Amino acid sequence: MNEQRVAELIRELLVEIGEDPDREGLVRTPLRVARAYAHLTSGYRTTADEVIGGAVFASEANNMIIARDIEVYSLCEHHMLPFFGRCHIGYIARERVLGVSKLARLVDSFARRLQIQERLTAQIARAVMDSVNAEGVGVVMECRHLCMMMRGVEKQNSVMTTSSVLGSFHNQSATRIEFLNLIGRGRGA
Ligand code: ZN
Repeated sequence: MNEQRVAELIRELLVEIGEDPDREGLVRTPLRVARAYAHLTSGYRTTADEVIGGAVFASEANNMIIARDIEVYSLCEHHMLPFFGRCHIGYIARERVLGVSKLARLVDSFARRLQIQERLTAQIARAVMDSVNAEGVGVVMECRHLCMMMRGVEKQNSVMTTSSVLGSFHNQSATRIEFLNLIGRGRGA
C-alpha cells in the first residue's frame, strides 16, 4: 500500500466533506489515516500459511478444541465502517492441532480486510479446516455494525450472529450441539 498516495486521497476527501485540511488539527490527519488503513487492511498482505507459520503440532487426542471470545475488529465492505464483536471457534483435530495464539492471529488476518461478516466467518472456518486437516470446524461470530448503529436504521443494540460449520460439525448434529453448548450458545445455555 502506497501510504503517500492514500494520504493525498484522504486530503482530497477532507476538502470534499467541507473541511480545511490545512487547519491545525487536520494537518497530519491524512498521514495518520493512511497508516491506520495500512494496519486495518494488512490482511491483504498476509496469507493463512504465513500467519500459522508452521505452528502446527502433533496430537493424539481427537477431542473438541474450543477458543471462545476472540475479539474481532473488521471493516464492512459496503460502507468501510467498523464492525466488531466476538468469535468462537471449535474444531476436532485428527493428528494435528494449531498453536494456541494462532486462532486469534488467523481471525485478525481475515478481519483486516473489507469484509462482510458471513464471508469472514466462512473464511476462518475454512482456514482452520485446511491448516490442520481437521475432522470438523465450527465458527460463530457475534458483531455490532457501526453502519447500522450510526446511520440508516440506527438499531443501537442489534447484534448480528453468523456461523459456519464444516465436516463433522456440519454432518453430525450431536457434534454441532456439543460445540454450541461449549461456547454457551446451545439451547438452554
Ligand atoms: Zn456496512
